Order: sequence, then structure tokens, then C-alpha cells
Amino acid sequence: MIETLSLQERLHGLLKGRVLTEESLASHTYFRIGGPAEVMVYPADLEDVKAALKVAQDEAIPVLILGSGSNMLVLDGGVRGLVMNLSETFLGLEVSGEQIRCGAGVRTSRLLALSAMRSLTGLEGLTGVPGTIGGAIKGNAGTSLGAIIDHLDWVRLVDRLGEERCLARKELSAGYRTCRLPMGSVIVEACFTLRRAEAAEIRETISTLLVRRNLTQPVEVRSAGCIFKNPPGDFAGRLVEHAGLKGLRRGGAQISEKHGNFIVNLGGATAAEVFWLIERARAEVMAKTGVALELEIQIVGSPSAG
Ligand SMILES: Cc1cc2nc3c(=O)[nH]c(=O)nc-3n(C[C@H](O)[C@H](O)[C@H](O)COP(=O)(O)OP(=O)(O)OC[C@H]3O[C@@H](n4cnc5c(N)ncnc54)[C@H](O)[C@@H]3O)c2cc1C
Repeated sequence: MIETLSLQERLHGLLKGRVLTEESLASHTYFRIGGPAEVMVYPADLEDVKAALKVAQDEAIPVLILGSGSNMLVLDGGVRGLVMNLSETFLGLEVSGEQIRCGAGVRTSRLLALSAMRSLTGLEGLTGVPGTIGGAIKGNAGTSLGAIIDHLDWVRLVDRLGEERCLARKELSAGYRTCRLPMGSVIVEACFTLRRAEAAEIRETISTLLVRRNLTQPVEVRSAGCIFKNPPGDFAGRLVEHAGLKGLRRGGAQISEKHGNFIVNLGGATAAEVFWLIERARAEVMAKTGVALELEIQIVGSPSAG
């Protein structure tokens, strides 16, 4: 009799890192919302990343890369296939002169703190942005003060065939909250070049930005950051507010009273409730202003199980 191994069993035999099944993604996303991952792996190292991607490629299994889940809405039915959780791997940080080499799993806040400590300026635009360096590069995270790829020299990744590649900044065609990576690739390391400045000045900028963020954004509640990209010449939050939607509630989800571009989880919100508010905001803003709001967050998974 030929025994067929499940995906979980195959990965368990191949990888050094943990392999979990039907793991709730709510506890792995900033929103605290979302159904389970069919299989979730925590690669222990580069070889694990390559091996997991190879299995997925051979068996045509979809792969979702997860950092801190701070820019994601996972739908209530969860994610079929493989979720590769990179929040515990690739945590190296190395400073050499004005350059910092950084693992993809390092928190943005940690990189920022290290650069301030070493009197290196450039990344302050990332003040208060949660998540990992991998997720930040994928979405070219930033603020009006600048985005992460502005300071990037190169990025090392593993493509979906399991091959390692190094790409220079200009090869990423970075834009507003986007960059172009080979499809399905996993960022594992990045290198930034910063400039020398007074550490006290850098710390002062960071604390001013944090105070401003705390005053204007609902940082005390669970969210996924800004839901929509700002349309050219305007602000999505202003348009949602102008449509009279601030404070609108659906179950445990609410369009923030503090900032129109945030949806917050007041407790026990479902993805369906958040999705309803997203669609309502898009429809009302379109009807009142003719502007089609584009999503900044990633929506992943299926609306219902099965
Ligand atoms: C309160 C709050 C405030 C925020 N403020 C800002 C802000 O000011 N500016 C801003 O730009 N964003 C902001 N965000 C959004 C979010 O923090 C950033 O987009 C962050 O960089 C996402 O990182 P992450 O690790 O959580 O990525 P995740 O949400 O886990 O993933 C985001 C995307 O990146 C991909 N990804 C993750 N890791 C990798 C990797 N190693 N290789 C390849 N792909 C990968 C995922 O597949 C997904 O497509 C905010 C979010 C919150 C909750």
C-alpha cells in the first residue's frame, strides 16, 4: 500500500523549524482578526525557506509570507496552503560604518532604534510603523518623511523556485507603498546606507513624530494601519471623514473616530465586519467625490471555511 503523506507531515520531516496546522491567524496579525492557516511554518534558516518553497512549488500549493501581519486583513475562512511566518527568523543586525545589514524578520522599530544609537539618520520616516523589515520593503512602508526603499542598497531574497538572488534598489521599481519583487519571493536580508547625524537630534525627531502619531492615530486599539492609499493630491482619511463615515460601526469593527483611514477592532470583530466597512467607505466616497479608493492593506484568505 502506498502511503500518502500530508503536507504537514512532509514539511515536518524536511524542516528544522516548527510546523503547525490549523493555527489561528488572529493571534499572528496586528488586527487580531482572521481564520486559521492550513499549515504554518516557522523556517529556522535559509535552507528551511528553500525547502518549504520547493515543496510548495512541486505540489502547486499557494504560499503566503507573513511578517508581523500589521498590514493584513485575514478573512474569516482562513488561508489554504502554506503560511510562512518570518517573524522569528533572520533577526541579524550588523553595522559597518554608515551601512546596516539587517535580517528580514527584524522589527522596523529595532532597526530605527539601532540607527539612532549609532548616530545614523535616514529611517526616521518609519517612526511608529509596526512590522518587520521584510514586510516594510514589500510595501515600501513610510510616511511623508520618506519610505524605506529610499535608503536601501540591496535586498537578498529566495525566489519561488528556491533560488537565492540579490537585487539592487533600482531593480525594485519602488513607488508609493509598492515595489516589484519576483513573484512569490521571500526577502531574507537587506542592506541600508544612512548618513551621520547627532544622535540627540535623531532621538528628538523620533519622539516628536511619536507624539504626533499618538495624537492623530488610534494607536491604542487594534487595526491594520491605513486601509486605503492616499489618492494623488488628497488624503483617504479626509475623504472618508467628508463622506460622514467616521465612527460608523459594524459589530466589533468601527471606522475610527480619530482617523478616517483606520478601521479598528473594538473587540471580537470579524473580517466580514471590517470588509463591510471597507466596501461602504469605498462606495460612499465614490458617490460623493468620484474618487476610487485603492487598498493599502493586503486582504488574504477566504471569506468562509471550505
Ligand atoms: C498602527 C499602525 C500604523 C501603521 N502606520 C504605517 C505607516 O505610517 N506607514 C506605512 O507604510 N505603513 C504603516 N502601517 C502598516 C504596516 O505596519 C506596514 O505596512 C509594515 O511595514 C508591514 O510589515 P509586516 O511585517 O507586518 O508585514 P505583513 O503585514 O506581515 O505583510 C505585508 C506584506 O508583505 C509581505 N511580506 C512580509 N514579509 C515578507 C518577506 N520577508 N518577504 C516577502 N514578502 C513579505 C506579505 O506577504 C504581505 O504581502 C501601520 C500599521 C499599523 C497597525
